[in-house]
Amino acid sequence: MANWFAKIKESVLKFFGVSTESTKLVDKKEEVPEIEIAKQPGLNCPECGTRLIITMDALLNYEPVNCHGCGLQLTIDQEKSKSSIESLRKLKTGLNEAESVKKRGQL
Ligand SMILES: [Zn+2]
Repeated sequence: MANWFAKIKESVLKFFGVSTESTKLVDKKEEVPEIEIAKQPGLNCPECGTRLIITMDALLNYEPVNCHGCGLQLTIDQEKSKSSIESLRKLKTGLNEAESVKKRGQL
């Protein structure tokens, strides 16, 4: 009994071009690397090489980073890093905007 329904559903779905779903999956895969880059900003300690994860907020607030490997404290040179911090700030604003657009789209 369910067979005829399944067949009709299948042809109706074909009629509406539901094959776009595979396109959506491809889009999702393409998004993954961007997220991973945004997730783990950081650098290697100049003294011991320990990977230090630096959050975007810490950078934007010029917070010092403490190495958990050797205890070295890395401070951000505010003058030298000003332009890169500014571009990071713009990036963060862009990310926030993209996120709110996404949320609005879901409602
Ligand atoms: Zn270190």
